Amino acid sequence: MTIDINVISEKDRNSVLHPFTQLKDFATGKIGDPTIVETGKGIRIRDAHGNELIDGFAGLYCVNVGYGRTEVSEAIARQAHRLAYYHSYAAHTTDELAILSDRLVKMAPGKMSKVFYGLSGSDANETNAKLVWYYNNLRGKPTKKTIISRERGYHGCSVISGSMTGMSFYHDHMDLPLPQIVHTGVPHHYWGANPGETEAEFSARRAAELDQLIETLGPDNVGAFIAEPVLGTGGITPPPEGYWAAIQAVLNKHDVLLIADEVITGFGRTGSMFGSQRYGMEPDLVTIAKGLTSAYFPLSASIVGEKIYRVMEEGADRVGAFSHGYTYSGHPIGAAAANAVLDIVETEDLPGNAHQVGAYFQAQLKDRFAQFPIVGEVRGVGLMGAIEFVGDREGKKRFDPSLKVGPRVSKAARDRGLIARAMPHGDILGFAPPLVTTKAEIDDIISIAESAVRSVMDELV
Ligand code: PLP
Repeated sequence: MTIDINVISEKDRNSVLHPFTQLKDFATGKIGDPTIVETGKGIRIRDAHGNELIDGFAGLYCVNVGYGRTEVSEAIARQAHRLAYYHSYAAHTTDELAILSDRLVKMAPGKMSKVFYGLSGSDANETNAKLVWYYNNLRGKPTKKTIISRERGYHGCSVISGSMTGMSFYHDHMDLPLPQIVHTGVPHHYWGANPGETEAEFSARRAAELDQLIETLGPDNVGAFIAEPVLGTGGITPPPEGYWAAIQAVLNKHDVLLIADEVITGFGRTGSMFGSQRYGMEPDLVTIAKGLTSAYFPLSASIVGEKIYRVMEEGADRVGAFSHGYTYSGHPIGAAAANAVLDIVETEDLPGNAHQVGAYFQAQLKDRFAQFPIVGEVRGVGLMGAIEFVGDREGKKRFDPSLKVGPRVSKAARDRGLIARAMPHGDILGFAPPLVTTKAEIDDIISIAESAVRSVMDELV
C-alpha cells in the first residue's frame, strides 16, 4: 500500500492525542512530523520514507519474538475467522483461553491458581490492587489495605497503577498518587548507597527501611508490596545483591502480599522465564502483559496465587459472584496470539537466548562504554541494559537537565539507524531488543550506540 506521507502526517497532527509527547511542540511542528511506521521484520522496523531502523527497544520492551512472525499473525487470523469474540463472564470460555490459562498457571513463579485477563499492564495492576483489598476483606482484615511501591517503580498510568508508579512526573497535574499507595526507597546502589556501603549492606538497609515503614503504618494496615523484579522505566536497574531475599523476609514477617510486576521481565527478558525465578521471589500475584503476546494483540493478566484464590473461593457463598471483569477479559484472539507466542518462546528457548546473547550484550556494554568520561554506570541483565551519563564521574553528579544529554544520545542513535530509548528519569540510554536478537545484531547495536555516544561526548567535552 502506498500512502501519502503529507496527508497522513496532517491527519495525525490534527487528530491524534499522542502519549508522552510535548503537545505544543508537536502541534507547531517544532519536533517535526510524526514518524509513520509501516512495516517490521525481525528486529527492524521501516518508516514511510523507507528508512530502516534497528529496534533496540522492541517497541516498548514488548515485541519479544520480533516483528513479522507469521506463526502469530496466522493464529490471529484463524481465530478471527473461527470466532472473533466471545466473553468469559458467567463461566464462558474458548479452547484457546483454557489452554493458555493452564500453561500460565504451570509456568508462573510461586504457587499459582488462576488467571484473570485484562488488556494492559495498567489494568492488570488495577485488578491486583482490587484483589489485595478483596482478599483482606474476605478474610476479615478490612484495614489491611495500603499498598507499598517503590520510588522509580513503573506500574502503569491508570489511577491506581499510576499511583503505584514512583516518578512524580507521572503524577503531577493529574491529582496522583492516591493515598492508598505509599512509596519506599529505590534499590539503586550507584545513587543510593552511602560511601563504602556494599551492595548487600545497602539491600539490608532498604529492607530495614521497608520494615520500619510497615511498622509506622501498622502491619494491620499494609496489604501488599508491588515491585518489578528489575526496575524498568525507572532506569533499567537490576536489584543489588541480596535485595530480594531481604525484602521477602520483611514481607513474610508482616503478612504482606508480594505483587511481582513482570510486565517487562516476564517470558524471558532477564534470561529466566520470569524475573521472580531469577531472583528467588515468592509472589502472591504476578502481573503480565507485553511479552505475553509480544504485543501482537493487547492482552494482560493477573496470575492469582493459591493463597489468595482459596480465600476468594471460600468467601463466595457469603459475597456472591466475583464482581470484576471487562468486556474483553480473556479475548479469544488475544489468547490465540498468546498461545502462538508462547510456542515460539518455548521452542526457540528465548529465555535461553536472552541468557546467552544477553551475557554477550552486557559484556559489550561494559567493555565499550564503562570507561567513557561521561558514563557513570553501565548496568543490566539478560537483554535489558542501560548506560547512565553523568556530568562528573568522580563526584557522581548528574548533567544539568537542560543539556538533555540522554535525549541527545538517543537522537544521535536514531539518526544512525538505531532505536535506543532515552529513559525518562535521568540521562539514561536504555536497551531492550527483541529476545530473538543474535550476537551479530548485538554487534550492530553496540557499534551504532558507540558512534552516537561519541558524537554527543564530542559536543560536551
Ligand atoms: N508495569 C510495568 C513494569 C511496565 O513496564 C508497564 C509499561 O511499560 C506497565 C506496567 C503498564 O503497562 P501498559 O502500558 O500496558 O498499561
